[in-house]
Amino acid sequence: MDFSFTGEQNRFRQEVSNFLEEEIRQGLWEPTCDAWIQTYNTEFTKRVAQRGWIGITWPKEYGGQGRSYIDRLILTEEMLRYGAPAACHWFADRQIGGSIVTFGTEEQKKEVLPRILKGEAYIGLGMSETEAGCDLASLQTRAVEDGDEYVIDGQKTWTSGGSFVNYFYLLARTDPQAPKHRGISEFIIPADLPGISRIPMIDITGTDAWNDVFYDGVRVSKGCLIGEKNRGFLQALHQLDYERSGMERLMGNYSLFEALLHFVKETKCNGKPLSHDGLIRNKLAQLEIEFEVGRLLIYRVALVMDEGRAPNIEAAMSKAYATAFEQRLANTSMEILGPYGQLVAGSKYVSIAGLAAHSYLGSKGYSLQAGSSEILKNILASRGLGLPSQ
Ligand SMILES: Cc1cc2nc3c(=O)[nH]c(=O)nc-3n(C[C@H](O)[C@H](O)[C@H](O)COP(=O)(O)OP(=O)(O)OC[C@H]3O[C@@H](n4cnc5c(N)ncnc54)[C@H](O)[C@@H]3O)c2cc1C
Repeated sequence: MDFSFTGEQNRFRQEVSNFLEEEIRQGLWEPTCDAWIQTYNTEFTKRVAQRGWIGITWPKEYGGQGRSYIDRLILTEEMLRYGAPAACHWFADRQIGGSIVTFGTEEQKKEVLPRILKGEAYIGLGMSETEAGCDLASLQTRAVEDGDEYVIDGQKTWTSGGSFVNYFYLLARTDPQAPKHRGISEFIIPADLPGISRIPMIDITGTDAWNDVFYDGVRVSKGCLIGEKNRGFLQALHQLDYERSGMERLMGNYSLFEALLHFVKETKCNGKPLSHDGLIRNKLAQLEIEFEVGRLLIYRVALVMDEGRAPNIEAAMSKAYATAFEQRLANTSMEILGPYGQLVAGSKYVSIAGLAAHSYLGSKGYSLQAGSSEILKNILASRGLGLPSQ
């Protein structure tokens, strides 16, 4: 077993890192927590696209570079390490573009993929509904055929990027008579169609990164259907493995980790540097152990993907582990900062730019989004350990 990167991979990491450092040096943006999902910057996404860093694993015939998932993970790791504002292209690059490559029509491949690669197509994920979260197959949004079109009615909740995306990926019921997992289809639809309205869901951190999206008699062409009608749930399971596979949840708050280390090195308490406090040193060292274990789990997911397999059990394990790690990171930062940890960005006495408070509040949702930890552990229990399904 060889855990080292090739020379080419090390050079690629350095190239991405140099690009991001230069962006920060020029003051084009500031690192933030959860930037991959909450911070959108169309110009940044276009600059990333110009470098050819969107869709790098897609086949060359569709404009990708056929590179490995390990390469993509190196790119992802650097984007997250610097807290880069990548929300515009994240979902298209991570999962929906790949779904279109696998299941999409030639027309979709010609129309949507080039727009993703140019950094112009921003796709939000419209799966969950108020009565269909973990039990996604219970979703009620309908898409009814009418001539050359489908007519969509329903409500989605927690749609990522709801306020800025220009496409929605949508799961809708196309056969209400079929068993619930079998009558669902996938769509990719322009976000500005008549009948679509969005209401930001301002969450506990104050972000509008997610929206409730309402579909009221929305007419879409049949060309918006991805893959086979009524097979959408199976296709979506494939895509969800990719959603859970990434580094996002392990490193989404890396800016906080770095800021905390800096704070501990720079701050004195009762005349003594915090970095000399045994308890604090122990807590930070423990986080470092957990972080490195998490990296190994996630690199394993990328290796499985490079073998051409869907990373089902591996992704469930890494996502359950990584969200728990991020919650511990947030908790530890509150313990070390004490009452100062509760102050938000802009407060007079705030430490480390309010990253701790943001992370602590946001971390409650990490183990729900993209599959709750309980569901992921159910997957591990049944498919990983062979225990009977419930
Ligand atoms: C920050 C955030 C971002 C999100 N982004 C998106 C997005 O971009 N697009 C999108 O479509 N959705 C998104 N979601 C929605 C997310 O996928 C759902 O919240 C999730 O699937 C859980 O559904 P629910 O909230 O309805 O909880 P419920 O399904 O009501 O579950 C409630 C609790 O019960 C537990 N539970 C449920 N069923 C079982 C079971 N069988 N066994 C054991 N425990 C169980 C769950 O783990 C959970 O703790 C997001 C959610 C959050 C919090």
